[in-house]
Amino acid sequence: MTTHHHLDPRSPLVLDTHDLGRRAGAMRELHETIPAPAGIGTPVIGIPEGSPIELDLRLESVSEGVLVSGIADVRLEGECSRCLTPIQDSSDVDLQELFLYADQHLEGEDEEDVARMQGELLDLEPALRDAVVLDLPFTPLCREDCAGLCQVCGANLNDDPDHDHGPATDSRWVALEGWSSEDGDDVEDDAVEDEDAEYGDEDAEYGDEDVPDEDAGDGEAAQAGPAPRS
Ligand SMILES: [Zn+2]
Ligand SMILES: [Zn+2]
Repeated sequence: MTTHHHLDPRSPLVLDTHDLGRRAGAMRELHETIPAPAGIGTPVIGIPEGSPIELDLRLESVSEGVLVSGIADVRLEGECSRCLTPIQDSSDVDLQELFLYADQHLEGEDEEDVARMQGELLDLEPALRDAVVLDLPFTPLCREDCAGLCQVCGANLNDDPDHDHGPATDSRWVALEGWSSEDGDDVEDDAVEDEDAEYGDEDAEYGDEDVPDEDAGDGEAAQAGPAPRS
């Protein structure tokens, strides 16, 4: 996939393996801090461009190519998926990738999935991107027990654990609660004696509740009235 553009040996993630000399068994370590390229991560969390990536790698010459393995210590920035608070974190990402020599073919391997060298150069960036994305959480959290946001007003419940709108603040809910508990008693009593009586009670109560609805209905009718005339 990288065979159609030439690797830039000055790019910090392009590694030169000249010193390994294509001798199987030759090995060198690489400890280097490089600036992160843009756009590594997911929409919710990722590596800030230009932030330091500490590479702690081993480059090993094997018969088919060069095996790169080790750890990339990366900075992460994102957003808590529950409370939207900015998150700063770091992660040690495991890297392991075999870069095939240009003239090597692995049987049964899909060419698309194979990392290839260009001459003595290899590009670590695609492998780093894949490894980082696999390592990232799907739903990053500011802390494991993040309380999230109030579903009513959006307040951060971590800042205000006792935050509560309480059913008592809305008089309609108070009225409804009283009504439903009375109704519960009625159902229990009436169900034993007479089902018709129970329906009768409910109708009467709906009738009371309907009074404001009828007003609203009239209002709508009055508003709807002039529309056809114009
Ligand atoms: Zn949170
Ligand atoms: Zn609230």
